[in-house]
Amino acid sequence: MTQSALPALFISHGSPDTVIADTEAAHWMRGLAADIPRPRAIVVASAHFEVSGGVAVSADPSPETIHDFGGFAPELYQIEYPAPGEPELARRIADDLVAAGFAARPLEKRGFDHGVWAPLKLIYPEADIPVVSLSVDPNKGPDHHYRLGEALAGLGREGVLVIGSGSFTHNLGAAFPALRAGKRKLDVPEWVTGFTEWMDSRLAEGKVDALLDYRKQAPFAVENHPTDEHLLPLYVAMGAAGEGFAAARMHESSDFGVLAMSMWRFDPAMAEAPGA
Ligand code: ZN
Repeated sequence: MTQSALPALFISHGSPDTVIADTEAAHWMRGLAADIPRPRAIVVASAHFEVSGGVAVSADPSPETIHDFGGFAPELYQIEYPAPGEPELARRIADDLVAAGFAARPLEKRGFDHGVWAPLKLIYPEADIPVVSLSVDPNKGPDHHYRLGEALAGLGREGVLVIGSGSFTHNLGAAFPALRAGKRKLDVPEWVTGFTEWMDSRLAEGKVDALLDYRKQAPFAVENHPTDEHLLPLYVAMGAAGEGFAAARMHESSDFGVLAMSMWRFDPAMAEAPGA
């Protein structure tokens, strides 16, 4: 029997003001901590930590809160997320990634972008769990990020929660008119549901090869992800649960009609019961 491991999560973080919004997704995130064992540390692969040609791991002992967005309510710029970093864990992750063939390096100075702090402010508002952030590479596709997640697959058993923070759909151009008008509750268009339904069924069935090839196989893939840095964290979370993972959708809602706020958990394959 193996020890029970923490799941890896994919969180759709939504627009930066989700953290102060009264949306279904924000409400759901506020209740999430009760559904999973308390982690001893958190690793977040963030769509807003983009690094090309390698993987950066924040080894900053006291990361500052980065307000990496413009045009939102002034109160959003006052929010701080003072969780500590954990340089030792960051360096070990960088070493593990190098051993797995990645060009990875720890960064002595790197704060929390809003892909990291905005969801964590809702999930763990006390900011008392150490957080290590991890970059995504906008030029490398799903396969790279899935393997990156696989290199982190042991962390769940050590009580470290791996989170991929992105967005299940992310066409900002299509979201912008509603965002500017503040219209959050809109009908979801077919080009969005066509994509999310395809992803939902492939995830539930664990069809990794199809998911890795989503850009060719999924309907409206490019419309929903003109660039795919916001979907890549999903693959990190998937990989981090290891081979034979079980995927379960924990939450589904939409914001501004076109932003799918789906949240997924990936649990490692169950160890076979003795004598089964
Ligand atoms: Zn984002």
